[in-house]
Amino acid sequence: MKKVAFYTLGCKLNFSETSTISRSFEDRGYKKVDFTDKPDIFIINTCSVTDNADKKCRKIVREARQISTDAYVAIIGCYAQLKPTELSEIEGVDAVLGAAEKFRLLDLLGDFTRPSKPEVFAKEINQVNSFNSSYSINDRTRTFLKVQDGCDYSCTFCTIPLARGNSRSNTIENVVNEARILGQRGVKEIVLTGVNTGDFGIHNGERKESFFELVQALDDVEEVERFRISSVEPNLLTKEIIDFVTESQRFMPHFHIPLQSGSDKLLKKMKRRYLSDLYLNRVQHIRKKMPLAGIGVDVIVGFPGETEDEFLKTYKFLNELPVSYLHVFTYSERPNTPAATMKDVVPLKDRNRRSKMLRALSEKKKQYFYEQNIGRNAMVLFENDIEDGIMHGFTENYVRVSAKYDPLRVNEVIPVSIYNINSDGYAEVQELEKEAHV
Ligand code: SF4
Repeated sequence: MKKVAFYTLGCKLNFSETSTISRSFEDRGYKKVDFTDKPDIFIINTCSVTDNADKKCRKIVREARQISTDAYVAIIGCYAQLKPTELSEIEGVDAVLGAAEKFRLLDLLGDFTRPSKPEVFAKEINQVNSFNSSYSINDRTRTFLKVQDGCDYSCTFCTIPLARGNSRSNTIENVVNEARILGQRGVKEIVLTGVNTGDFGIHNGERKESFFELVQALDDVEEVERFRISSVEPNLLTKEIIDFVTESQRFMPHFHIPLQSGSDKLLKKMKRRYLSDLYLNRVQHIRKKMPLAGIGVDVIVGFPGETEDEFLKTYKFLNELPVSYLHVFTYSERPNTPAATMKDVVPLKDRNRRSKMLRALSEKKKQYFYEQNIGRNAMVLFENDIEDGIMHGFTENYVRVSAKYDPLRVNEVIPVSIYNINSDGYAEVQELEKEAHV
């Protein structure tokens, strides 16, 4: 039995795809092992957004070679689609597979006999239009279910459309079936995942269904206790979706909405499809309907043209915005994107300083949001994430909870009362007898 190991860089989508690919190996009789367990095959799933993607990839290949000198090393994922030839030239690489080919890896690479020179399987991204369903299972208590891939937007900083191609989706019928099967297998929470998840519904270049219709259909899936919408562009997070989630018992009161900048001038330069007013309006609507919903924000600092004044606009906008946490990204130039050749480049030291300022703001917001939950009842899904006798989980509105490890509570949704936020930033809870809901 050949042994295969996986290494994944990047986002939840990449993790769900690695998980699906690893199951296809197991179905064919391969044994999945840890990276250090002398595998016969290494599969490295790369990311184009990761800083120093090239350097990281080289390092992982080097480590793989040290662990198993004769193993087969294949590189897949977004960076493999963007730079197939460059990656194939890394010493020790046997094959590079692009966005469409990674799901056909087992057929394309046969019995994994090392070739005399590296093989590249990557067609042009504009020819990639098939949708491959994926989900992570066993790796985590929560399952990330991919419902959409690719993106038709053209944000000037982003390489994802070049790495993943046009927007395309699974059908509602398929997603509902997959959700039912996952629920029957014991999955309690499904996180809907995609590149531009809110754009769900395009099949073969034509819009056939909508994200709202998907949310409505999944709400009837009794086999799954919880659904979470991972990240939706503000222009696609309609009031009808927010209103529906407000009434739903299955969709959690938790939204992640990319903002990127609080300055309209920069939003236009980034070619985002909304201005700060619309964003504010969406957040206010959520707050009106669900006063304690978890709201996460993606924001980029140091985009070209971000003067100190423009940055302070973003800071002030976020400071006043009633959100729960920020994901702060420091802008870095990506080859072949319009932003990479823009003028008014922000010096690195300013990018880093601004990033630090927003991270501090995020901590402040998170602390405030968590404290607002003290004294409330909640339902926590405890995960298989045990550390020093402590287990962790999330409430409906995405407050991270810690409690003494109890194997009977893992992968169970438990009613609790939140009584404290500890110095590590976790909510401490007391278990309740009967059900409670935020
Ligand atoms: S919406 Fe913009 S940032 Fe998001 S994947 Fe599409 S192009 Fe990239």
